[in-house]
Amino acid sequence: MGKGDAVVVGGGLAGTLAAGALLGHVDTVTLVERDRYPDRPAFRKGVPQGRHLHVFLSGGRRALEELFPGLNGELEAAGAHRLEAPRDVITKGGNGWQRRFHEGRHATTSCTRALFDATVRARVLAEAEGSGTRVEVLQGTEAVGLLGGADRVTGVRVRARDAGRAERELPADLVIDASGRGSRAPKWLAELGAPAPREEVVDAGIGYCTQEFRPAEPLDMVMVIQPRPDCPRGAAWSPVEGGTWLLTLGGVRGHHPPTESSEVPGFVKSLGEPALYEHLLTCEPVSPPYGFRDTSNRRRHYDAPGGVPEGFLAVSDAACTFNPIYGQGMAVAALSGLALRRCLAEGACGPVSRPRRSAPWPGRATPPG
Ligand SMILES: Cc1cc2nc3c(=O)[nH]c(=O)nc-3n(C[C@H](O)[C@H](O)[C@H](O)COP(=O)(O)OP(=O)(O)OC[C@H]3O[C@@H](n4cnc5c(N)ncnc54)[C@H](O)[C@@H]3O)c2cc1C
Repeated sequence: MGKGDAVVVGGGLAGTLAAGALLGHVDTVTLVERDRYPDRPAFRKGVPQGRHLHVFLSGGRRALEELFPGLNGELEAAGAHRLEAPRDVITKGGNGWQRRFHEGRHATTSCTRALFDATVRARVLAEAEGSGTRVEVLQGTEAVGLLGGADRVTGVRVRARDAGRAERELPADLVIDASGRGSRAPKWLAELGAPAPREEVVDAGIGYCTQEFRPAEPLDMVMVIQPRPDCPRGAAWSPVEGGTWLLTLGGVRGHHPPTESSEVPGFVKSLGEPALYEHLLTCEPVSPPYGFRDTSNRRRHYDAPGGVPEGFLAVSDAACTFNPIYGQGMAVAALSGLALRRCLAEGACGPVSRPRRSAPWPGRATPPG
């Protein structure tokens, strides 16, 4: 008997890592991605948050290393910065600046989101060779619905973006939704007669803005200024590849940061931290400031008993989107990939191709982890 076929909807970070986790456990993985990937690491529309600072936390680094040994090193070789907190990252909270010392346990990665995703994608596709799993990437292809019924999902309906409205069907034993914060899977499941998951939203009303700078003389530390009751505004200043740094500003309702370049220094000055403000004045802006406002926490309760048909799984932002101030969504994507691979390795799901009566993880639609 074959091992089965999987379709992953969304070729962002979570989808790529889910495809990587499936290697060796299924016969084929079809990765369906709405965008066309750029030739070199670059911003793309399908990941609109990709212009903002994306720091990869230590739990994510550990999960990534377990999934693909050496990948953190490949990121650093490509220009990402390995930062140890609190030695290289100083944080100002309600009680002032945290002490700076070498603790040695919590390394983080700082680079552009574009570099991160491109490096992970290249590694996963390289690992596919000789893995026993054939991986096909359908770029410029949008998933528009699911196949199957209320009890079992049996594939995905897709449409090439440059082929008018013509649709085709991709049958699959397992469909993984990794289409991110804008996932339409709840609607697609409802179309099959399955219950759409209950959605829980907690919106702190935070607005973001990010601008890229080239410092004349870079600082030897990352600065994080957290919002506090008397100043519900904050900032993070962190290096990315190529000698530039990202300034990400945030503020809750009524304190949203500006998206006009000329207003950025004034916002930074209002944080009451002269060290960052004065340093910024010596740096050359190399991008306009980009805003981002859709920052709510959103959990889709696929974990409710009987919540999803068999053969369907939602991972990462498609299942649970976090307020970006936590900086943990990418780490969750890596941990989801690891949990998926562990479940497959332990046989917790059985062969993907064998119809099962119960959900792959008892009572869950998302892998534990
Ligand atoms: C402003 C901001 C800052 C953030 N900062 C951090 C941070 O510092 N650290 C951190 O860990 N996390 C951060 N995050 C969270 C992080 O961006 C997400 O958690 C992460 O991108 C989730 O990855 P994903 O693959 O699930 O979704 P995405 O990265 O959004 O990828 C989804 C993919 O699916 C594709 N797609 C969508 N619909 C379809 C369809 N119908 N058919 C085919 N393809 C489709 C898209 O084109 C895209 O490629 C931040 C988020 C925001 C908004």
